[in-house]
Amino acid sequence: MSDMRDHTGILTVAETSEGKVTSASLEILTFGKRLSQELGQPLFAIVLGSTVSSVANDIATAVDRVYVVDDPSLDEFHVEFSLQAIERVAEMARPAVILLGASLESRDLAPRLALRLDTGVATNCEELRIDDETGAFEAVCSVYGGAALSTYRFDDAMPCVVSMKPGVADPLSLPGRISGEVIEVRQDFTGIERRSKVLGKAAQSGPRLEESEVIVAGGKGLSESENFALIRELAEALGGMPAASRAIVDLGWATRAQQVGLTGQVVSPELYIAAGISGASQHMVGCSSARCIVAINTDRDAPIFQHARYGVVADCSEFLPAFIDKCRELGLD
Ligand code: FAD
Repeated sequence: MSDMRDHTGILTVAETSEGKVTSASLEILTFGKRLSQELGQPLFAIVLGSTVSSVANDIATAVDRVYVVDDPSLDEFHVEFSLQAIERVAEMARPAVILLGASLESRDLAPRLALRLDTGVATNCEELRIDDETGAFEAVCSVYGGAALSTYRFDDAMPCVVSMKPGVADPLSLPGRISGEVIEVRQDFTGIERRSKVLGKAAQSGPRLEESEVIVAGGKGLSESENFALIRELAEALGGMPAASRAIVDLGWATRAQQVGLTGQVVSPELYIAAGISGASQHMVGCSSARCIVAINTDRDAPIFQHARYGVVADCSEFLPAFIDKCRELGLD
């Protein structure tokens, strides 16, 4: 932990995938830009990876300074290597805040980074602001599956390590002209022990659940595995993607990649339809930031109705076929 006065600026950790900045990172670049303008402090970014100079140049169109650590060892994610590189850049840049996006990698990185920098961390945050009286950063985080908000104040911990929840801002569209400085950082990774090894990557083809604007999710209230077809059909009729609660993933009615929640995907679509899902906190962690939740459940006291903007008390095996027909008739896909 170091003197607050030594620190200024917002450092965003820009993750890349297949030579492009991920959409979670574009969201935090927008968030970081807004924050840096509000605070009158510079915006920095760190880009880690192998042959990422063009990504660094893209990001340099939107921030004041990009630190790029381009090394073959960073070809795939290893938390130990990423930590080493971010720690090095944090020492060079001395930011007030290190912002991470909503990704599995960030979940792994944020607490470890804070420990290394001997500072504080807040994860899954919705907002980051400065307390007018004390001048300290305050992070507002969603807890208990979005049922409550919790505020953390960084009294004298610097830099504040903060990971944001998905959907905190629209993804930044990168303009064409490079205006920021690009600094190449050399980092020697020899001697760093890798404690995990990537054995393989599950190939994901087609659209990604976390990027879908419309998600139709099914739960145990579907009653039988065949009824998951109704979830797929409704998703298709609305131009969206099907998803599931863990209960039915465990039963084998849906795939692990379709699971939403604490141990699944975290999504923030415009529309989330939950059919036969009770609304357990572990499920809501994954979908509470959806703009509009519609719940279909036979139990009018089901917790999901406390989160839903629209609720339908009905048996989903009766309601869904009629609803699908109507959506098709209206051509909503
Ligand atoms: P249930 O809780 O059984 O609810 C079924 C609902 O369907 C009920 O509300 C019922 O009223 C309604 N229903 C019944 N019949 C009908 C009908 N005919 N028509 C309409 N509605 C009907 N869960 C997740 O989803 N994602 C996670 O990532 C996740 N991670 C977890 C991590 C941990 C560490 C733990 C302990 C649990 C986790 N869970 C997760 C499990 C979670 O606690 C719940 O058990 C699970 O979400 C329940 O799934 P469900 O709502 O489909 O089933």
